[in-house]
Amino acid sequence: MNNRMKRISNNIYQISLGWVNVFVIEDNGLTLVDTGTKGSTGKIFSAIKSAGKNPYDIKRIILTHAHPDHAGSAEEIKRMLRVPVLAHHEDAKIMGYGVAVRKEICLTPGLKNWLIYELAIKRAGINIEPVVIDEQLNDRDLLPLLGGIRVVHTPGHSKGHIALLAENEEVLIAGDLLSNSTGLGLSVIYENMAEGISSIMKVTDLDFDKMAFGHGSPILKDAGSIIRQTFVNYEYTLV
Ligand SMILES: [Zn+2]
Ligand SMILES: [Zn+2]
Repeated sequence: MNNRMKRISNNIYQISLGWVNVFVIEDNGLTLVDTGTKGSTGKIFSAIKSAGKNPYDIKRIILTHAHPDHAGSAEEIKRMLRVPVLAHHEDAKIMGYGVAVRKEICLTPGLKNWLIYELAIKRAGINIEPVVIDEQLNDRDLLPLLGGIRVVHTPGHSKGHIALLAENEEVLIAGDLLSNSTGLGLSVIYENMAEGISSIMKVTDLDFDKMAFGHGSPILKDAGSIIRQTFVNYEYTLV
């Protein structure tokens, strides 16, 4: 499996770890966005090294949400590098107890979603190694990276889910707000699907050209208009 770093924009890279992606932002050291499942540290570090960069330059970890395929190695990397972990306050609460998935889960209709749920999501379990979140984020916070990365609270998939808008690079790191793993569409599971769709509508108002996902390939051009076209009618058809 090739898990080398793929460039999304000038200073944002994607590392694919099998079926889930993590991201590296290069500015003021490295920032790791998401951490894969438990045991992903070695793969992430070797991908960073293979791009000629030093994983020990990671200065902070941002988690898009609590799920075990995103927050699974957060505590291990934090412990190893002694770096702060940032996440939205709603998911920060549960991650501190090692809880990664809330009870209310609805599966998006469709055979492909059912298969992914049965083969991957169930297997990932509902717990992570507990991780204390050092900085709790709120909607519209501006992180001092790349001239300002906007935190966009996008609940639904998870109550504390965030997307990250790197305004100067016109990149939206979408996490699991939606998915591009079997074509552009909804994520496989939502805690609250109506809220998840409202969150997708919320990002259609933002200005970005490229979009990267927790699952699937990035869209490297015209992502804003592609998302608008794809989801324009979802509000009415699915809720
Ligand atoms: Zn998720
Ligand atoms: Zn995920």
